[in-house]
Amino acid sequence: MSKIPIDSSDQVFVLTGAGISAESGLPTFRASDGLWADSRVEDVCTPDAWQRDPERVWAFYSARRAAGAAAQPNPAHIALAELEARLGERFFLCTQNVDDLHERAGSRRLLHMHGELNKARCENECGAPPLTDRRIYQTLNEVGRCPCGGRMRPHIVFFGEVPLQIERIHREIDRATLMLVVGSSGSVYPAANFVHWARRNGARTVYIGPEPPLNAEAFTHVVEGKAGEVLPGLFE
Ligand code: NAD
Repeated sequence: MSKIPIDSSDQVFVLTGAGISAESGLPTFRASDGLWADSRVEDVCTPDAWQRDPERVWAFYSARRAAGAAAQPNPAHIALAELEARLGERFFLCTQNVDDLHERAGSRRLLHMHGELNKARCENECGAPPLTDRRIYQTLNEVGRCPCGGRMRPHIVFFGEVPLQIERIHREIDRATLMLVVGSSGSVYPAANFVHWARRNGARTVYIGPEPPLNAEAFTHVVEGKAGEVLPGLFE
């Protein structure tokens, strides 16, 4: 497989999806044995689900927390942390993942556009900052309340909600000369559009994953393979 050259003027934007954590044992979104095979999105990951049955939502994300805590970063997470160490401010990582495997591999210039598993925030959006929260909840009674009186909800961006820090993501894409997308099926928006924004600006766009994503035609290069096998040693 040919290497991807990165020269001293390149600004690299990386978007990762559930596929990068697959080799760490965390199920992806779409796989037939995936995360959503047993739980419907509508029941655990929408604002309506939270209003209807918050205990069920917390049960689902408590199980995700337990799985995330047991998982370890794989060679793909580590390769991206090493690339950041080499490029410094010329590197930016945007992840759709809510797990913390990028941080645990050493990534720092990182944004979780769909929220973080190990945080909670006020359901009233009262302005109180999100809190670190790794607890596994058995019942809703154990879940705390914000000083404003609102219940604490998972930090996760539910389907139908606006991703976090989208303006910053726009700015980072605007200055990118190389976009790498790793393990994302291209089915969840607006992330599936990032490659189009980058192409419009003339950036090279590379996809890495075992099968072409739905938006494959927007990439200048598709590298078929598992992230943990392809990413280490991919960059020149
Ligand atoms: P997706 O499940 O829709 O797509 C996963 C993609 O990863 C697929 O295209 C698949 O071919 C690819 N893949 C599978 N194994 C891979 C490997 N070893 N290396 C590289 N690629 C591999 O995931 P998505 O596009 O990220 O969208 C799903 C949504 O679900 C996201 O919004 C995300 O927030 C959420 N999610 C997060 C996690 C997590 O935090 N680990 C896990 C599941 C889902």
